[in-house]
Amino acid sequence: MTERQILEQHAQQHLVWLRNDLRTQDNPALYEASQQGHVIAVFVITHKQWESHHDSHTKLSLIYQRLKVLQEELGSLGIPLKVIEAKQYSHIPQALLELGKSLSISGLWFNNEYPLNESRRDRAVEKHFVAEGLSVHRFHGDVIFPPGSVLTGQNEMFQVFTPFARRWRQLFRQGFSKHGLSPYPKPKRQKSDILLNNIPHDDIPPFGEPLKESQGRSHEKSHDESYRQSYRDDLWPANSQAIHRKLTAFAQKRLERYGEDRDMPSLPGTSTLSPYLTIGALGIRECLAAAEKSAAKQPGSNTTLLDEWLDCTWVTELIWREFYRHIMAAHPKISWGKCFRPAGDNVRWDDNEKAFQAWCEGNTGFPIVDAGMRQLKQTGWMHNRVRMITAAFLAKLTLVDWHKGEAFFMQHLIDGDFASNNGGWQWSASVGADAAPYFRIFNPYRQAERFDPEGEYVRRFVPELQSLPAKQIHKPSLEQCRQLGYPDPIIDYSQARKRALAVLEAAFKHG
Ligand code: FAD
Repeated sequence: MTERQILEQHAQQHLVWLRNDLRTQDNPALYEASQQGHVIAVFVITHKQWESHHDSHTKLSLIYQRLKVLQEELGSLGIPLKVIEAKQYSHIPQALLELGKSLSISGLWFNNEYPLNESRRDRAVEKHFVAEGLSVHRFHGDVIFPPGSVLTGQNEMFQVFTPFARRWRQLFRQGFSKHGLSPYPKPKRQKSDILLNNIPHDDIPPFGEPLKESQGRSHEKSHDESYRQSYRDDLWPANSQAIHRKLTAFAQKRLERYGEDRDMPSLPGTSTLSPYLTIGALGIRECLAAAEKSAAKQPGSNTTLLDEWLDCTWVTELIWREFYRHIMAAHPKISWGKCFRPAGDNVRWDDNEKAFQAWCEGNTGFPIVDAGMRQLKQTGWMHNRVRMITAAFLAKLTLVDWHKGEAFFMQHLIDGDFASNNGGWQWSASVGADAAPYFRIFNPYRQAERFDPEGEYVRRFVPELQSLPAKQIHKPSLEQCRQLGYPDPIIDYSQARKRALAVLEAAFKHG
């Protein structure tokens, strides 16, 4: 019997397109499709993505490792995972349709993505399938509330975070408090292995190497090879048990102190779950459920406390993630590089390549900035407080266009996520959705003294300065710098601050 004949005997098979939702649990599209009949999963690779032109090496490594894990997990549920290549982004609709037809599927299922290019791609895919009489089913797996559903009294998107978060919590309490919050279960095991036996898993091509489709073509150069980090399985395990253990350990042991510890980069005060949320190895409902469960386990917990878990700072951070998704969907101009605040587009950035290179390499002569950039290079991740310090340093004190920093982060972060990264950069450059005025300028010396008072974080990533006491480590003298082989500061802080204020004022006051 041919593959097609076997499949025809199994009418009602559904194709689930996995993208940034690489999980079997809390995956609405996968679960709902499995309720309707047999499921085949697919992941599409484009050569631009896989050859690392845009995303970081560590993020692609994590996706690659995760796909292998997922293939096993899906296999144990009787679900084959196909991996297809599309030469270009615009070829994805056709590639998916061809696969769908060859497998005689009756419907396509996926969870929405919100950036502009992804939304356009998804509309094109939907059009292709519907034109062939195939059904398309879309879900919101990446957020609790889809963009456009958390609005002001005038039915508009909020311009700043705090009232957005208030409304989000209000809606959450109205929508979920009665029934609790449960992540979607894993799909049931398919009744027979017939699909898996006849449609074997596809091999996952090693990323970073030319794909079949693009072999023989002259390649565009991927980003600077000298920054290529290696993926560390010990830091970022891809298997589900390890990821869930990490979530549970955080929720049970560190969540309670998160409000106090989260700004101290030398402490393991935050969850470090962002890479998993970005690629969808972990679902947002799973995170909220873990927070709720940990509140229930606190000694003396009662209904008030149970209700209060939703107000904790960690949930606020998860709401930030959602806020930036809503902002991006409400303001498509952001996706083509525009600032949220129109005046931000008038800033006259300085094309200072030397300063930019020193920043990228962690050689600015500002220890806290260099520690952050070196943490990024060594691990693929950077602490949130230090992301704010390094981003504000580049955008304000060197006046290098924040878009360059945004792209560099995307190319090096293991959790690189367009909406959160863009939102974080616009916030740091004071051109984004933020209540603070443009003249807020972080003083890197003061930030370092406040958030790394003992200099432990700097010592960890800037070994040249290891011997310096806490009092000197954040602002070594020129003599110390030269003795220890550490670079002189690339700017004078006070002068740079004055210059930044003048340039920003020109854009914001007179622009
Ligand atoms: P936790 O403190 O444990 O927070 C839990 C989760 O909430 C995070 O995993 C993340 O998904 C979300 N979150 C936390 N803080 C923020 C925030 N400020 N904005 C949006 N979501 C948040 N986050 C990314 O996931 N991807 C990015 O590419 C990214 N780029 C950033 C760039 C800049 C310039 C700045 C200032 C922030 C950026 N962030 C980004 C947000 C934040 O720094 C990271 O989410 C956080 O450091 C991840 O660590 P964690 O998992 O330990 O977070």
